[in-house]
Amino acid sequence: MPPLRDVWVFPYPDLRKDFVFISERYRPPISLLRIHNTLTDSVEEFSPIVPGKVSMYVCGVTVYDDIHMGHARSIIVFDAVARYLRYLGYDVTHVTNFTDVDDKIIRRSAEEGVEPLELSARYIKRYFEDVSRLGVVPATMYPKASESIGDIISMIEEIIANGFGYAAADGSVYFDVSKVENYGRLTNQTVDQLQSSGRIADDPNKRGPLDFALWKAAKPGEISWDSPWGPGRPGWHIECSAMIRSCMGEQIDIHGGGNDLIFPHHEDEILQTEAVTGKPLANYWMHNGMLQVKGHGMSKEEKMSKSLGNFFTVRDVLQKFDGRTVRFYFLNTHYMSPLVYGEDMLAEADAARGRLVNNYRELQSYAKTAPSSTADPSATVEEYRARFCAAMDEDFNTREAIAVMFEMARATNKSMADGTLSREEAEAMLTLIGEFDSILGIMPEDTKDEGLDEIMGILIDLRKELRSRKMYDLSDLIRDRLKEAGFVLEDSAEGAKWKRA
Ligand SMILES: [Zn+2]
Repeated sequence: MPPLRDVWVFPYPDLRKDFVFISERYRPPISLLRIHNTLTDSVEEFSPIVPGKVSMYVCGVTVYDDIHMGHARSIIVFDAVARYLRYLGYDVTHVTNFTDVDDKIIRRSAEEGVEPLELSARYIKRYFEDVSRLGVVPATMYPKASESIGDIISMIEEIIANGFGYAAADGSVYFDVSKVENYGRLTNQTVDQLQSSGRIADDPNKRGPLDFALWKAAKPGEISWDSPWGPGRPGWHIECSAMIRSCMGEQIDIHGGGNDLIFPHHEDEILQTEAVTGKPLANYWMHNGMLQVKGHGMSKEEKMSKSLGNFFTVRDVLQKFDGRTVRFYFLNTHYMSPLVYGEDMLAEADAARGRLVNNYRELQSYAKTAPSSTADPSATVEEYRARFCAAMDEDFNTREAIAVMFEMARATNKSMADGTLSREEAEAMLTLIGEFDSILGIMPEDTKDEGLDEIMGILIDLRKELRSRKMYDLSDLIRDRLKEAGFVLEDSAEGAKWKRA
């Protein structure tokens, strides 16, 4: 099997240089991966629909403001999930959406006097700036609601044709929840329990209180698209069902998102898709726990959210902390656990991560001068790798995986101090840390020099070619731009070499 390559559909090539590329290592897929499935509330063995491939959809953000740390948690958790699946050898299609038309966007754009899609485009660009600083590997596709209107309208037409939807007098379309028998599968609740949960907004156009809007008739002056029911825009839930179908097909392996989306959003996605396909939407539903904030003057914790006004933007946090520290902070907790946000906890994460980084730096300098040995380090490497993978295989337990890295650091600190660590062992440990970090993304950038070597080799060859054609200005431009980026090229008799400045 050839090594894997990611397929990129990434709309901002100017930002792409900032993203971390995963080194392409191949291990045969192992069947030990187990995932907690919200549908059954149990940890199940993972088995994809198509062997060797994984389709994963993660609900994205509504782009009317900068992303906050609560969003960052979900983005980083599913980034690590996608990275680990790729590490296992799966060909992963990871889709995450942008809700770029909704009430909040319309309200905010009216306040600012700009077009809604201009406002959302601004925050999509800023989203990519933020997630690139968090070392997030871009998803395979980023569909937008505003660009999926055709898919959305045809799905609503099919829902109506199959008897699960109705158009109201004002030109809105609703899903008729009374037509389904098993609503509430993710939350394990009956329709009666959901109805009495008190979270349902009143709407005179609805036949039943749990019915939800598939299409919203346009109010005067609002952004709208033509539809068989008159001008309007999509409801929130329908965009995910329509995008999943258009990007990945009728059924996917993993559907992810924050656990605040389970009801009603994910329950409604299930109803919409099943009304059209008659098949389950996703086999595994993964939900990350909420990032909480200490309530004002109370011990009670509440969810970090825009509407509660208790959020910390990623931008603000990144002024004080490295993006890799933010990753460490999130990944050092199980993704399902609630987590209370505090700057003191980020400082703690920074210090803990610093111990791993220091060990890495010491291994680097130790390996340059350490005595060579004939002892084979592969047994030690295999043991650590097996333990790291065992942790990740058990529902992506990144906290346990990081604990294995700390154990490695303690062991090598000791054997470096007493001089029993050989150069071969030190080098093997450095390689292994880089391998683990292709999943976690918490270590310094230069653990990934392996792939960089190839890229620099291409640039060096290109420069040689330019010089042979006497295009010295372009050859110098490459050298100067690399220098600006922190890489020095040294010309010698044997050709050019590169190093970090
Ligand atoms: Zn969704």
